[in-house]
Amino acid sequence: MVARYTDGVVGRDFLNWSRTHVFWRGALLLFAATIAIAVFARGRASPAPPTRVAIRVMCADAATCSLVERVSLDVWSEEQGPGLPLDVVVTRDGLAELAAAGIHWDVLVADIDAVARAEHARLAQPVAARPADWFAEYRDYTAISGHLRELAELAPDRASMHPIGATLEGRPIWALRIGGATARTPMLVNGTQHAREWIASMVTTCVADRLVRDYDRDPKVRAFVDSTALWVVPVVNPDGYQYSWSSDRYWRKNRRDRFGVDLNRNFSVAWGGAGSSRSERSQTYRGAYAFSEPETAALRDLALRERITAHVDFHSYGQLVLYPWGHSNTAAPDRAKLAAIGDRMASAIFAQHGARYALQTGFDLYAASGIMTDWMYGAAGALSYTIELRPKGGAGFVLPPSEIRPTCDEGLAAVLALRGSIGN
Ligand SMILES: [Zn+2]
Repeated sequence: MVARYTDGVVGRDFLNWSRTHVFWRGALLLFAATIAIAVFARGRASPAPPTRVAIRVMCADAATCSLVERVSLDVWSEEQGPGLPLDVVVTRDGLAELAAAGIHWDVLVADIDAVARAEHARLAQPVAARPADWFAEYRDYTAISGHLRELAELAPDRASMHPIGATLEGRPIWALRIGGATARTPMLVNGTQHAREWIASMVTTCVADRLVRDYDRDPKVRAFVDSTALWVVPVVNPDGYQYSWSSDRYWRKNRRDRFGVDLNRNFSVAWGGAGSSRSERSQTYRGAYAFSEPETAALRDLALRERITAHVDFHSYGQLVLYPWGHSNTAAPDRAKLAAIGDRMASAIFAQHGARYALQTGFDLYAASGIMTDWMYGAAGALSYTIELRPKGGAGFVLPPSEIRPTCDEGLAAVLALRGSIGN
């Protein structure tokens, strides 16, 4: 074979072809190397986005608080006020600025994006690798809707599924109505006005699950279901919730236009007041007008139609039980009653696993205007509470899934305590 190629025309042609081939192969390699170097250099020229750190500051005065907020990329604390920590997200440059101002902080999460990536990787595992217990892992809107449907099919005599509205992206906002034939007292429990507060949708779904499944084995549950017409809306903000699953784990608002509206600033009692923003980019953007958003309008219509008398709005995080007013520190007309019932709810929560949820009301300097509980109390006439679920600080919104069940015990205990405090 070798002789054949070194002799005659065929051999010369091959030699020529071979030289040409080597030339072009060399040129190709050089070209590829140039591209690789260019890409590498470009990669080095535009550095990765800065690390985002979640920190906690106990700011002693308003000036310190506002400096911290000015430096921050995002404020995680839902409630702010004297004695409450201020949790914010900052870059390392922001930390340097705080250090220069002599401000002390504790790191909650050293790299919030790394934590979100780890959670995303865990959730991307094949279904077969996931735990059998439905509440041992977080679930998206589609899975939660399916679970509510299952509950309605399981006990059609005391559970039914209803769309109470539709979002801007066309998703139904689902409610499960739980209550036997004799049920009278109308109550509402909802979660996830704020997209990133995943524990709120899990706890709300879990409360519904326990009330439907434990009817025959738990006398307290049976008494509740027989006497209460409970409306459960686990995902008030499906568009934002799905966006927090697909694109931005720390998304808070709905998906109106580019920046979204903070639904919990879009209710009409004290709409537009302190603690809400007119700027679209703000995390507390209140919308163009009260009830401008389909999600808040749906809750309003449901509450008025059903004449809701008691209400819990689940959020995370901070472990707090809050009652009206949120927009001012003026005492609500029923303040003593609201506080007494709230105290019973916090005690019932503590009795579950020993977790302390502090009882609070609104603060003059750190108001939140246009919130749901103020509207439910002030306009719909319901005894209304905001509960900030676990954790107290820790991982913030990315709570380990092993805490879903215990947090659900706390949520259910609070709802039963509220029901037990209001008579028929
Ligand atoms: Zn919230």
